Amino acid sequence: MNTKCKHCGGDMNLAEDGKSLICPYCGSTEIIEESDAVKIQQIRSDANAEIEREKLKHELEKDKLKSEISREKSFKKASGRSFWSFSPRYL
Ligand SMILES: [Zn+2]
Repeated sequence: MNTKCKHCGGDMNLAEDGKSLICPYCGSTEIIEESDAVKIQQIRSDANAEIEREKLKHELEKDKLKSEISREKSFKKASGRSFWSFSPRYL
């Protein structure tokens, strides 16, 4: 964080909400709209969302694979009653 406090000139920190800056020296706050800090925060959360989506995709593929295996098993046992019975917990 390179933003300087207008009151005491200290380095300001990004607040937890990501939308304001807090001076740790004098305690003054400043709302930021489209500053670099916000952009960085957005890029970070976008990247996290992307990672989460990828994880979800893998989980779904795993689930699909699992249900296909169990489907094959149940086919051998009985008529396909558990045909589409895989858990929808990721949907
Ligand atoms: Zn200050």
